Amino acid sequence: MSARVLVVDDIMPNVKLLEAKLAGEYYDVLTATNGHEALRKAEQESPDIVLLDVMMPGMDGFEVCAKIKSNPKISHIPVVMVTALTDVEDRVKGLEAGADDFLSKPINDTALMARVRSLIRLKMATDEWRVRENTANQLGVIEKSSSAMAESTKNAQILIVEDQDFERRKIEGALAQDHDTLVSVGSGAEAMALVNSRAFDLIIVSLNLENEDGLRLCSHLKSNERTRSLPIVMVASSPDMPRVAQGLEMGAYDYILRPIDPNELLARVRTQVRRKRFQERLHAAYDISLSMALTDSLTGLYNRRYLEVHLEKLLQKNRESRKSMAVLMIDIDHFKQVNDTHGHNIGDEVLKVFAERLKNNLRSFDLVARMGGEEFVAIMPDVSEMRAQIIAERLRRSIAEEPVICGAEGGALNITTSIGGALIDHEPHTPQEVFDRADKALYEAKNLGRNCTVFEGAGKLDPAKFSPQRRDNVQAQ
Ligand code: GH3
Ligand code: MG
Ligand code: MG
Repeated sequence: MSARVLVVDDIMPNVKLLEAKLAGEYYDVLTATNGHEALRKAEQESPDIVLLDVMMPGMDGFEVCAKIKSNPKISHIPVVMVTALTDVEDRVKGLEAGADDFLSKPINDTALMARVRSLIRLKMATDEWRVRENTANQLGVIEKSSSAMAESTKNAQILIVEDQDFERRKIEGALAQDHDTLVSVGSGAEAMALVNSRAFDLIIVSLNLENEDGLRLCSHLKSNERTRSLPIVMVASSPDMPRVAQGLEMGAYDYILRPIDPNELLARVRTQVRRKRFQERLHAAYDISLSMALTDSLTGLYNRRYLEVHLEKLLQKNRESRKSMAVLMIDIDHFKQVNDTHGHNIGDEVLKVFAERLKNNLRSFDLVARMGGEEFVAIMPDVSEMRAQIIAERLRRSIAEEPVICGAEGGALNITTSIGGALIDHEPHTPQEVFDRADKALYEAKNLGRNCTVFEGAGKLDPAKFSPQRRDNVQAQ
């Protein structure tokens, strides 16, 4: 699918000119001739990038840009302001409104295409995370996030690669007011050594280094797993434009031309720092939402949703390897009484300790999950029936024999549990069938007086036979 570009300009010939250039590069072009139409189309047609004229009657480009960037529905769409003005103040104003870049009229084709391509690429990468974030929102596990504009731009870690003292001081001076930590080096080798040992939010690379090509460093950074997503801002002179275009093609995020205007540099750096922090927040939110969606917040164990998906895979593996696995359904006895007598909070404490004991008594590759309430499931791949029964009995004893330390009166509670087990052979089985079989055994254990283990086909296990004092069992463990 080709990318969609929204061109906004109040003068028709300008629109037509850009439309022709972009269509020639196989972009789909949408157009708007005023701010209101632009905002409407941005919302309705979700373009991949907006090329926005600054001077328009009514709502000017700055205002349109600020509106796009403060609307969470469309703030992720990159905006390039197109202007006849070369005034630096206007550039800064635009960047502060959230513009991702500026192009000057008459538009240089190389700069236009390099810009559009690199911004669209960047957006695609962010879109992937926005989709995941959306899912997480629907699951109700994370708050709807705002936009990159809400991120702080202060206290960033910035690496400067510049070998001319005068230019370096100018860059450092420009960034001073944001309380950034600035580290300056004079060569690509020093830069590579540093980025491998500490984390930066942004790297500023001169393309006019005396003894080497700054683009080579950009290429190294982009091919290194650790630094691939580190924003790069290139510093270049006007005659370097073809190399700047090459750098953007490689994945550098932005550039600034000499002589460096301090405000413009500051604005561009802020844009990149914001963008990086926003991206990181999306990733972190995704990680959290993923673990929240798949684990139980009280005990930290996997939840039913995870168990059901994962059991399917385990069953398949069991089939392929022609082994057997055991499924245990574990349910606390008379747990309702714990709640009724000591309160729900003590009940929660007991559940936590219970979950901890289950984990400690299973192998690291066994799976233990909370099915819901006070019911748990343990899956043990690759076990014999004998071993599964020994482990089940050991689990039951570990609960019954050691009181649970908690805030209840007396400081501890005696808890017991009933366990139902089934051994699953390598024939095809569904998760539901497997649960049902273990559940049936559990039901029998409850009927036989609780605090016992029942295995499908074997009935109630005799605790004396499975006691740790028995030599044959100690060896089997
Ligand atoms: P049985 O021996 O037959 O299993 O009896 P039981 O009382 O353990 O079983 P029942 O299903 O009657 O009651 C389960 C109780 O578990 C009822 C419910 O309030 C409590 N419960 C479920 N989830 C939680 C929880 O997250 N925290 C607490 N504190 N209690 C919970
Ligand atoms: Mg105009
Ligand atoms: Mg119970």
